[in-house]
Amino acid sequence: MTAKILDGKAQAAELRGVLAQRVAARAAAGKPAPGLATVLVGDDPASQVYVRGKHKACREVGITPIGYELPAGTPQAELLALITELNGRADVHGILVQLPLPAHLDAAAVQSAVALEKDVDCLHPANLGLLAQRDRQPRFTPCTPTGVMRLVKLAGLALPGANAVVLGRSNIVGMPLALLLTKADATVTIAHSHTRDLPELCRRADLLVAAVGRPELVRGDWVKPGAVVIDVGVNEVPDKAAHRGRRLVGDVAFDEAAAVAAAITPVPGGVGPMTIAMLLENTLHAAELAEA
Ligand code: NAP
Repeated sequence: MTAKILDGKAQAAELRGVLAQRVAARAAAGKPAPGLATVLVGDDPASQVYVRGKHKACREVGITPIGYELPAGTPQAELLALITELNGRADVHGILVQLPLPAHLDAAAVQSAVALEKDVDCLHPANLGLLAQRDRQPRFTPCTPTGVMRLVKLAGLALPGANAVVLGRSNIVGMPLALLLTKADATVTIAHSHTRDLPELCRRADLLVAAVGRPELVRGDWVKPGAVVIDVGVNEVPDKAAHRGRRLVGDVAFDEAAAVAAAITPVPGGVGPMTIAMLLENTLHAAELAEA
């Protein structure tokens, strides 16, 4: 079997086109451009690249990016004061605090300080809690997990009753994704670093999602023939032949898994672009909620 490649880049571009039309329609109706405030603390090069990418994507669809760059040593009180200021600004509809934060800062406290109606990353415990409750919905669904759900839909997998295995239980990917899949009536198993016999567990998955941050952990013989495989992992590995001596790989050994799976996401070009598209969608939704 040769898997269908789930092209997140193309899917995200299509979505951005739709979002740009919706933003343009708002402008034509005299409504303000949605605004996304990004807060970057410190000078981590990867985080700088991610934030730049988010700003570019915002501009492409007509969302105004409002960037804050704070020094690595910024005290907690100063960061919280900025969040409070952004919570009160009418031109800011979404607030994104780029993670990871420097170790001296309390990320949980910062996430809890973001106003619920501007929590476009869905990291506030109240929004995450709503995701966990039956018959209730948060204002926003988290960006990476929602992007994964769209790619599963693209794969054509019927989720009710399907066995879904999610590798990873982080607040930002694994846990909220498991909740979304449960809401979609899949039977979900969450695996983590204490899970016994991971290969055997994975072989039972109709949907296998890897979000662990371990390069090519998932091998081809862990994949059930015909399964859908979504690779969230982004890992840099040395490669002398590659430009800059490094290349990106996912958490799945792509060639091996693609020979067995029905559908699979590439890295890069799979989940990553979808995450950004979902952030844009949530920001537009926040602007709409602010006017409702
Ligand atoms: P994280 O917070 O480090 O969580 C990793 C999870 O994987 C933890 O639950 C950990 O278990 C589990 N784990 C680690 N090693 C394992 C192993 N050998 N076997 C089974 N489980 C293992 O990471 P994250 O923030 O969720 O990110 C995961 C990956 O996704 C990273 O590569 C990250 O760069 C990538 N990512 C991509 C996007 C995107 O848009 N493409 C967005 C976010 C993250 P414990 O809980 O027991 O420690």
